[in-house]
Amino acid sequence: MTRWLAEYAWLPEHAEPTADVLIEATDGRLTTVTPLTAGGPPAAGVEVEATRLPGLTVPGLANAHSHAFHRALRGRTHDGRGDFWSWRDLMYAVAARLDPDSYLALARAAYAEMALAGITCVGEFHYLHHGPGGTRYDDPNAMSAALVEAAAHAGIRLTVLDAAYLTASVDGAELTGPQRRFGDGDALRWAERVDAFRPADGHVRRGAAVHSVRAVPAAQLATVAGWADRHGLPLHVHLSEQPAENDACRAVHGCTPTRLLADHGVLGRHTTAVHATHPTAADVALLGDSRTGVCLCPTTERDLADGIGPARRLAEAGSPLSLGSDSHAVVDLFEEARAVELDERLRTRRRGHFDAAELFAAATVTGHAALGWGDAGRLAVGDRADLVTVRLDSARTAGVPPAGVFFAATAADVTQVVVDGRTVVADGRHLTVDVPTELRDAIAAVLS
Ligand SMILES: [Zn+2]
Repeated sequence: MTRWLAEYAWLPEHAEPTADVLIEATDGRLTTVTPLTAGGPPAAGVEVEATRLPGLTVPGLANAHSHAFHRALRGRTHDGRGDFWSWRDLMYAVAARLDPDSYLALARAAYAEMALAGITCVGEFHYLHHGPGGTRYDDPNAMSAALVEAAAHAGIRLTVLDAAYLTASVDGAELTGPQRRFGDGDALRWAERVDAFRPADGHVRRGAAVHSVRAVPAAQLATVAGWADRHGLPLHVHLSEQPAENDACRAVHGCTPTRLLADHGVLGRHTTAVHATHPTAADVALLGDSRTGVCLCPTTERDLADGIGPARRLAEAGSPLSLGSDSHAVVDLFEEARAVELDERLRTRRRGHFDAAELFAAATVTGHAALGWGDAGRLAVGDRADLVTVRLDSARTAGVPPAGVFFAATAADVTQVVVDGRTVVADGRHLTVDVPTELRDAIAAVLS
């Protein structure tokens, strides 16, 4: 049994943090979460033998949308002025060079950076499946296996959201160049491959993804959705990130991407739409009525000039909101969380769309649920023992009330991270990965 005493902890259903909380865990599960000031054991005044956690302790943060290899692009796509297409050209260049070994090294460093930021679980929206030219590796899931190993080294949990990526455009153009590495030919061959991926490790779960309506023909959407449904696994899909996707879908199918997904059985409570930046009012209703989740990625959406999604309207309609760092221009769930509120302020010129507890839920319990981990993201007895401690004495957080942390802290303020009862980060340092060195070397290896 391990025991901690949190100066402050944010407990489920609480609008703000509680002081002096005793937390115990056995075999990676929380067995005690008790505020001492509430008269719980031990009696007040009795010295508790426990590891002290100064600052605010929150549950594990969930990064519900990641493309690990995009980490190599950070700061490199702004040559001249850098538009979406210069970003995509470099992304393809990196994709063209990766193999299972370099993918492992880059993902391991990227996931370790996430651990430092308090992320205890990542959803990897994975489409870099095959070798150059689209040739299958001897193990057709070798790239997925590299991700599993990377997450194990970094000490975080992983949901491999294996993306079907079959065509280059809504009208069914063939994959060319580096995109050929993404393709399985058709959805049945995709399903056959993902069926064979059976990771036994406790830190990983499977999931499925439709890359987008550009990449999966309408007639094959139900095959991917059906596979996820049969196995009871989460299904993710990029949706309406750019208006051009809506225009192309209307031109080919006569409807919006959301309508197309709804008509082919892709929406539902196990589905997460990523971005949903440009939905129509009818799309918002379709997403909300079906309880389809929405994963917002505000730092990527601003980096790529996608626009500002209608977060409040989506939430009101019934869509649970989660957060992702997507392209990893920034890896900081505090920044993603506050951006949900701050972007609404910019758009509406009003404040007060989301309260701190709502942003906190998006970063924790809702994100975990979107990745198929319904037993994580809350400091509650029986849940996974994920603890993320944020210092309240840094230049950024000193003088800030604990409830204000989502509007003040950055990833650099995370001092201690426990995943499934195991300490992964202590005193702000990853215990097994030299994160800056490994990032530098892994990125140099794929860009030199
Ligand atoms: Zn994405």
